[in-house]
Amino acid sequence: MKILIIEDEQVLADSLKLMLRSKGFEADAAFDGESGEQYAMLNIYDLIILDIMLPKKDGYQVARTIREKRNTVPILMLTAKSDIEDKVAGLNSGADYYLTKPFDARELLACVNALLRRQGSQVNELVFGNTRLDMESASLVCGENSVRLSAREYEVMRILMASGVNHVSKETLLTKVWGYDSNAVENHVEVYVGFLRKKLVSIGSNIRIEAVRRLGYHLECDGPC
Ligand code: CA
Repeated sequence: MKILIIEDEQVLADSLKLMLRSKGFEADAAFDGESGEQYAMLNIYDLIILDIMLPKKDGYQVARTIREKRNTVPILMLTAKSDIEDKVAGLNSGADYYLTKPFDARELLACVNALLRRQGSQVNELVFGNTRLDMESASLVCGENSVRLSAREYEVMRILMASGVNHVSKETLLTKVWGYDSNAVENHVEVYVGFLRKKLVSIGSNIRIEAVRRLGYHLECDGPC
């Protein structure tokens, strides 16, 4: 499997390359949008990791060009922005999935593997226990029951479901969902986790959001996960 990284922060690009190689992938890096696009057009990659803010051509333009050429390679977009609008713009430009910086190596690998498994089709739901998170409608669905989530609830739930049984710290949730510059505090995270717990119960989900002191949150389920 060959992966192309288009990322102008060389330190990040190099560490991604090393990490992917250590997992058995072949990886190349391009440091601006224009050369990234040229690499992508070689059609030799199984997946593209694409940053948004890039010199010469931004990630949205690169994704759009790739799709205009009917290239269906999975695109994982990296965004430093945590605004929902930016993510929607990313998905609309042809990305299959997005990750918010800073991300955890395990989270990135999980996304890469999920995208490679679903080659050619968008990842539009995450499943844990008896419940799925529908990413198009931002709803939690359990059997016949479903409940819509607010933008922040959706973001928190998406990160928790992507991490599953692995811990996600409150700090990570704060940075990813509320952003670096916001005045939000850890208490906001607790409040939203509270909302999510109520919504999970309301649809009969067997997911539990467990809090572990100092480590943060992880998911468990009653019964088979
Ligand atoms: Ca950048």
